[in-house]
Formats: sequence, C-alpha cells, structure tokens
Amino acid sequence: MYEQLKSQLVTHNITLVAVSKTKPTSEIQKLYDKGQRIFGENRVQEVVEKYDSLPKDIQWHVIGQLQKNKVKYIAPFISCIQSVDSLALAKVIQKEADKNDRNIDILLQIKIAEEESKSGYDYDQLLKDLVDIKAFANINIKGVMGIGTFTSDETKTKQEFDKLKHYFDNLKSNHFSGIDDFKEISMGMSGDYLMAIEHGSTMVRIGSLLFGHRN
Ligand SMILES: *Cc1c(COP(=O)(O)O)cnc(C)c1O
Repeated sequence: MYEQLKSQLVTHNITLVAVSKTKPTSEIQKLYDKGQRIFGENRVQEVVEKYDSLPKDIQWHVIGQLQKNKVKYIAPFISCIQSVDSLALAKVIQKEADKNDRNIDILLQIKIAEEESKSGYDYDQLLKDLVDIKAFANINIKGVMGIGTFTSDETKTKQEFDKLKHYFDNLKSNHFSGIDDFKEISMGMSGDYLMAIEHGSTMVRIGSLLFGHRN
C-alpha cells in the first residue's frame, strides 16, 4: 500500500504525513525502512516516547489539539505543529522554541467544519492574531491545516476543502505574498485524500490506509 500511495502522491507533488497514532514503534520502523520520514501523532506523551526510541531523522508532526503546558515536552525535537489555533498557544511555542534555541514550523489550523467538536481558528480571529504570530522569531508559519466534517456527504466535504483553499489563497495574497515558506495546505485523510488533492491540498495526513484500522 505504501509504495502505491507514495507514487500516487509524488506525481502530484504532495507531502505524505503518515499518521501513526496508537501504532507501535515496530510498525513505524517498517515504514521508515521503506523511506517514510514524516510521521504524525496527536498525543504529546506518545510522540515523546516514539521520538526517544526511533531514528532521529524522523520529522514528527503534531496534528491534534495541543495543551499549552505540554509544549515544553516536544519543543526540543518537534518538526511541525499543525494544530495552532490560538495566539496563546503560538506564544508558548515561541517561548519554548527560543529556550531550545531552535525554530519550529507551524500550520495555522482553521475551522472548516460546522461540528462544534472540531477545533481550529475562526478565520476572523486568525486575521486579528496574525500580526503577532508573524512577529515570533522562532516560529515559521508554513501554511494552513483543516479537518473536514466526518460525513459521507461528498458535496459537503468538497465545500469545506474549497473553504480552506480559499482561506489559504487570501492569506497568501494579503499577508504572505512573496514569502515562499507559506505554501502548505494540509487537508485530506484516508477516506478523502484524493478529493482533497483535487481541491488544492499539498499535504495529506493518512493513518488507517497505511497502518490498518485503529481500535
Ligand atoms: C487520526 C487523524 C488523521 C488520520 O486519519 P485516517 O482516517 O486514519 O487517515 C488525520 N488527521 C488528523 C487530525 C487525525 O487526528
């Protein structure tokens, strides 16, 4: 499955984040041996443990909601925090990155689903916070991330993907024009990644398709 997926994504120049949450290090190592270097996790303790026991050239992405008081545990090594949805969180990331004398990549997670349970920035709020976040010296803003509604209604999913692409385009032209670093649209999971690519995704987060279903 990995090779097939990988070649499909390479054609479209899409980055693959292999979502390894709940999966043992042995399974991650297997994928690593096939060449995969970017893995996504949503729990701090889990990603710290996996970082400790796996090859150090893995780029770990946090894709789940992150508590401010836990940033310090991942700041020494985390490659990208995809779930930045408040100025307060960005502020802590800046502080911890600075302490570790390094830079941390982030994505701005924007709310595109209607479900109350789905997290992410309200777009208008993001616009208000943007100047402050951009000023943080140890944070690289690489783009946006979104999680669609869990639904079998393809029309709805497409609308949400279009919404995120639209937000990205607006941000790019109004706030990041000429800034090459701002280029990623992280959207699409196992069930909808092809649709996401058609709608402008540059980075897909795929778990169950690679590792099998989670319990
Ligand atoms: C778990 C998770 C994924 C991967 O989901 P699959 O359906 O297993 O591919 C992607 N993104 C986020 C934010 C997740 O929490």
